[in-house]
Amino acid sequence: SDVGSQKERVVTEEEWLQKWEMGNIGFHKEQRHPLLQKYLDVLLNGRSGLRIFFPLCGKAVDMKWLADMGHSVIGVEVSEQAVKEFFSEHSLPYCEEPVPEISGAKMFQSTSGNISLYCCSIYDLSSSIVGKFDGVWDRGALVAVNPRDRQRYASLMFSLVEKNSSYLLVTVSYDPNKHKGPPFYVPDSEIKSLFG
Ligand code: SAH
Repeated sequence: SDVGSQKERVVTEEEWLQKWEMGNIGFHKEQRHPLLQKYLDVLLNGRSGLRIFFPLCGKAVDMKWLADMGHSVIGVEVSEQAVKEFFSEHSLPYCEEPVPEISGAKMFQSTSGNISLYCCSIYDLSSSIVGKFDGVWDRGALVAVNPRDRQRYASLMFSLVEKNSSYLLVTVSYDPNKHKGPPFYVPDSEIKSLFG
């Protein structure tokens, strides 16, 4: 199908912050994601104590669920409001500190230490700052990235994962001429060319 209508679309960070301020966050779900539950074994692959990355994390409740299972959860989100809402809605005490390598960025960490959310753009991250991840839960992330930035996003994700990592990706299928997105329509052929 023709994805040309979405190719040029850009949603700025400012617009994302506004969505959070306006409560225009239809993407947020109060319930755990059914596909994460279904494919949890694929993500974990028999391993415990993983470092699991949530790109463009919002306040996804699945972060709490995986952390409670004994994994370390690391997320990145431009909206400080989203990050603070995550901790307060789960009654999790946290501390907040600057990230010396990234100007203006802050890292919010649960007092128990197992959930660390970076408040900055994902494009500011590198493995020297956040380390490498054993697993990735990509829901509302690749599909929220501006279409022109997908290659950059995919390359960054490759640089952030360990060799034997697993990556669960959720996409949405619909006619891109009928909605402007996000979430954007990312055809399977493009997923293949981005991720191999
Ligand atoms: N993954 C979450 C949120 C999806 S919406 C969920 O499934 O609920 C996409 C989120 O990405 C928004 O919260 C938005 O504020 C954030 N975002 C957009 N661009 C970003 C960027 N460049 N870096 C980090 N976060 C970003």
